[in-house]
Parts: sequence; structure tokens; C-alpha cells
Amino acid sequence: MKNLWNNDEAQHYSGDLALRVYTSRLLGRDTTLVLHGGGNTSVKITEKNILGENEELLYVKGSGWDLETIEAGGFSPVRLQHMLALARLDNLSDPQMVNEMVTHMTRASAPTPSVETILHATLPYKYVDHTHADAIVTLTNTHAGLNRVKKIYGQAVVIVPYIMPGFDLARLCAQEFAAQAHKDTLGMILMNHGIFSFGKTAQESYERMINLVTRAELYLARKNAWSLPTVTATAPDTPQRQNIAQLRRDISNAAGTPMILCIDADPRSLDFARHPDVATLSQQGPATPDHVIRTKRLPMLGRDVAAYTAAYKNYFDTHAPAAKEPKTMLDTAPRVVLDAELGLCTAGRTAKDAAIAKDIYQHTIEIILRATALGGWQALPAQDIFDMEYWDLEQAKLRKGNKPPLFTGEVALVTGAASGIGKACVDALLARGAAVIGLDINPAITTLYQRQDFLGQVCDVTSETQLCTALENGTRAFGGLDMLILNAGIFPASCRIESMTSDAWRNVMNINLDANLALLREAHPLLKHAPKGGRVVIIGSKNVPAPGPGAAAYSTSKAALNQLARVAALEWGKDHIRINSLHPNAVFDTGLWSDDILHARATHYGMSVDQYKRNNVLGVDVTRRDVAELAAEMCGPLFAKTTAAQVPVDGGNERVI
Ligand code: NAD
Repeated sequence: MKNLWNNDEAQHYSGDLALRVYTSRLLGRDTTLVLHGGGNTSVKITEKNILGENEELLYVKGSGWDLETIEAGGFSPVRLQHMLALARLDNLSDPQMVNEMVTHMTRASAPTPSVETILHATLPYKYVDHTHADAIVTLTNTHAGLNRVKKIYGQAVVIVPYIMPGFDLARLCAQEFAAQAHKDTLGMILMNHGIFSFGKTAQESYERMINLVTRAELYLARKNAWSLPTVTATAPDTPQRQNIAQLRRDISNAAGTPMILCIDADPRSLDFARHPDVATLSQQGPATPDHVIRTKRLPMLGRDVAAYTAAYKNYFDTHAPAAKEPKTMLDTAPRVVLDAELGLCTAGRTAKDAAIAKDIYQHTIEIILRATALGGWQALPAQDIFDMEYWDLEQAKLRKGNKPPLFTGEVALVTGAASGIGKACVDALLARGAAVIGLDINPAITTLYQRQDFLGQVCDVTSETQLCTALENGTRAFGGLDMLILNAGIFPASCRIESMTSDAWRNVMNINLDANLALLREAHPLLKHAPKGGRVVIIGSKNVPAPGPGAAAYSTSKAALNQLARVAALEWGKDHIRINSLHPNAVFDTGLWSDDILHARATHYGMSVDQYKRNNVLGVDVTRRDVAELAAEMCGPLFAKTTAAQVPVDGGNERVI
């Protein structure tokens, strides 16, 4: 394990809280220590309050912050003495504990402090660091894990048996610390959970964490349990997108809402999915209960969602009666699927959630393999995992039920997405919570957005091979397709029929018409599996109802596309796919219009550029955003009962009216 402390870097962080930020980020940089918001850190600082009195504050990581990117504002200042007084109570429910923490902060806008705040408060050190280091959860999830921990660390750490996070854990840790700690204690190991280190300075606490975890890694190496077996598994090279879309539909149905499904067919994941003992290795529980919200207790083996649902209901019925409070059952959909052909598939409400589940399970695979090599993987009993999954605090979040954006869990594909109306459609769909696949011939598409819910792919829509590859990649990234915006198109220079070459004609037809037939055909099996029904929006043109001289190829291509959309609407209604067209006109903030062309056209009609732009019945400027917002709405509930409609978005055109 690498010590990332760097004196030159550290110099840029002055003050106790700034150094807390620095070493928290160092922990966050190493995914074998903390993953996605896991782990937490704190520092105790005395400050003057508004009355000029000294006050001891515990700055502890706030929920919603990731250690890797945390800033000073991500730490919540909690009154230390009140936390210590709470720690002396015999009982405190977790919701009461959270209430006390939130009402005893000195900054109203601070995030909710970590549920491990009281635990941090009771440890008598300025700096406290907590991680769920892979090596530690590997060791503590084995037969004889306790003996191994004692052997590795001797008296250097306090050892705490497993108990669920929250007030009871804080109290138990305080008791164990009082009983076991001495002047040379370096940290505390929580069985099946993780590790704490502490120190007088940020550097000391951080380096102790690195040293303690390194000892565990070296032990695993000595026992030949550190290096993972080499893997060579490869995925079948036949297209899997229909299978994936079907699996996503079944998972979405079990969840009662559309879900994103992300496929990871890397050799390690595939090899584990095909492991001869996968049924025993994977069916015990997560590496730490901290992961259960993201991964559910167990992965699904294969693709039988009905069987998984039945087993999950049974797990609920068996363990709910033993819980302290009555529980509301969560949805029965798996979050992790191990499939011999597809590999590791992870599901989430958003692309980010699915990616987090993937990262967690990739680590889990390594943890299970190492623990097995050490002599036997042994996760916590099901009741402990259940208590965490159905924790009062999690159930409260469920009751709050924030309304997510309209297209959360859904997937959209936009062609010609790097510029103009297409790019604006990407923005409108992302803003409504969809995961978006953007295709464009322009390589700029790959870097349009660096975010989990966007996949930009270079694709010439006139190549059927490239279209199929793009659909395959898109389905592997997000699980299927719910919405399709056929937007890519060209508007060639004006040319009268008597001068039109066949090549020029065919080029326009290829892009504006033929490519859309190929994409509709290839997308149909995916749209058919859309959990809420498939939706297609065609970006047509005013030229469909009102063609212009000099635009024979363009007008004909768009008119034929319009007819294609109408037939598709007739054929696909039974598959719950609806297709509607938008007819924009004169959308000037796009790549089709340069300033020069705009100027030339305005001059041609004897108008100023501004007059020319608003030369429509309403006298308004029609922007790419206007078109894109309407395209997105056409995929939403307002158009749920509409198919084969043609809607102008042109400010009103006299020739059309
Ligand atoms: P734009 O030039 O800004 O965007 C078109 C995008 O399509 C570009 O990013 C381009 O790289 C891409 N593209 C072109 N050929 C492609 C191919 N073979 N494969 C993949 N991508 C390709 O123009 P825009 O105005 O946003 O045009 C979008 C659609 O709107 C077109 O279908 C156009 O006919 C239609 N439209 C535009 C207007 C207008 O006034 N701008 C009016 C009516 C209709």
C-alpha cells in the first residue's frame, strides 16, 4: 500500500482543517481503502464562537461528500462536548442521534454529519481516519478472522466485534477502547466492517492507516492469498444487446421503475461469473454491510428475475420479524447479476448508481477470492445484513420519497449529437434524468461531456456496421434503449433539379433517409423492451409540408422520412412504441447556418439579419433549445397517447398554415 503523503503538496494546506482535507483526499484516492462516499474522517478544533468563548468542535465528514473530492465545507462542525455527553447515554435511537447531531452544529448550512460522528468524538485523538480497506475486510470475513487479526497486530490495535453502525456501535467502541487501549495503540479494527487510525497530526493518523493496512496486505501475501489468479476468460463475440435489454426490462419490472443496467465483461468479472464455486462464493453476503444498499444482500446468478424476486421475498419474510421496528419491503430487483455469458451486470436507478455497484462488486470479487485463498470466505449472518439494509435511517429515506427527474432510469440515443439541435436534445434529456448515448461523425462527440450518464461515440450513421456497434456499446453501458431522436442530417447547398447529380442526390438520401431506416430497424428490438414503452422523435423539416425551390434532395429526403415514420407508427403501436415528428424551420444557432449564409440570405430578401431571423407569423426567434425541449417533451407523459403526429416548431409559417 502506497503512502501518498507529499511534503510539497501538504505545504499548500495550512491549518488543522485544511490538512484534514488533504489527508482525507489521499485516502479517497486509493480505491482499496474507500469507495464512493465510503469511509469518514474528522478533526477536533477549538474555535471562538460569536460570544467570544472557546468552543471545542468536531469537524466530521458530512454525508453526500466523497473523501477523494472533499473540501472544507464538506466537514460538519459539531459541538464535541454534546457528542461526548450523548455517548454516555444508555440508549439513543439512530433517528434521535441524527437529530442531536444536526441540531448541535455551528453552521446551519453544513451537511448532515456522518452517522459515525459520536464514535469519532469518543476517540481521544485530534485526527481520526476510518476506511473499509479491502485487506481488512478480507481478513475479518474469514474463518478464524479474529485470531488472524490478533496475530498480525498484537497489542497495536483495539479489536471490536461486529455490531451495526449507529449509536450502539459508538458506545461499544468507546467501551472497548477504554478496556484495550494504551499509549502505543495505533488504531482500531471493527470486525467485518473496517478500520480506524488516529493521531496527533493529520500526517500521523494517515500514515498509521497506511502502515496498518500494509501489515494486513503483507500477511495475505505471506499466506499466498494476495496475488489473484490470472484470468483469460473472454466474452462471446456475438451481439448481446437483445439479451441485455430483456434482462434490463425484467429487472425494471421487479423494481417497479426503469433501471439502468451496466455490463462489465472484463476477464476477472467473467471468470468469477463462471467460477465452479460461484454459487457458494457469491451467495453469502457483502464484504461490509456498508455496501448492502448499493448491491443488495446477494447477486443474482443467471437471468431468472422471477426466481430472484421469490428468494428476496422469502429473505424479507424470514428476517423482518426479528427486526426492532416494522419494516417496509424494498423492491425485489437485484442490483448485481453474475452471468456466465454477460459477466458482471449491475443495476441502479441512475448510471452513477449502476457504476458504483459495479466498482463495489469488482472489489468484492477480489476480496472473496483472497479470503477463499486464505482458507475460507465467511460473510456476516443474513440477519446482520438485513438489519443494515432495513436500518431505520434507510427506511426514513424511503418514506421521504423525493420525486426524481422525469426520465430517471431511462436511456435515450441521439444522432448528430455533437452540434446544433442534436446537442441541445442531449442537454434536454440529461436535464430530465435520462442516460444519453450521443452519436456523431464528428470526433468531438467523445469529449462532449465527461459524466457517467453520457456515452459519446463516433459513428457515421450511413454505416450499418458502425450503427450496430454503437447500439451494442450503448446497451452495454446503460442496458437498453427507451428513446430515440433521429436528428443527424445535412442541408446541401441550393441546387436546381436540372443540375442535380445522382451522387449528390444519393448522398443526401443516404444520410437523411436510408441511415434512419437502418437505425429504426436495429433499434426496434431494444425499443420493444423499454419498460415504459419506446419513443421515437424524428427531426423533420418545414420542407415536408412546404418544400423550397433549390432543395429537391433535402425536401424529398425529409418527406420520405416523414412517411417512414408514419408507417413505423402503424406497425409498432402494438409494441408500445410511439413515433412523432417535429418540423423545425430556420433554427439559426446551429451548424447548418454560418454568419455568412445568414447575412447572404437576409440580404437576398432585403431584410436585416434580425428581421430575417424572426420572419415568421409570431415574429419570434426559434432556437435549437426550443426544438430540443419539445423533442424531449414528446418522449414524456404529455404525448403518452399520441403517435404519428407532426408538430411544427417554426414560429408559424404562412405557407404551412
Ligand atoms: P448541425 O450541423 O448543427 O448538426 C448536425 C449534426 O449531424 C452535426 O454534428 C454533424 O456532424 C452530424 N452529422 C452529419 N452527418 C452525419 C453522419 N453521416 N453521421 C453522424 N452524424 C452526422 O445542424 P442542425 O441544424 O442541428 O441539424 C439537425 C437536424 O435538424 C437535421 O436533420 C436538419 O435537417 C434539421 N433541421 C434543421 C433546421 C435548421 O434551421 N437548423 C431546420 C429544419 C430541420
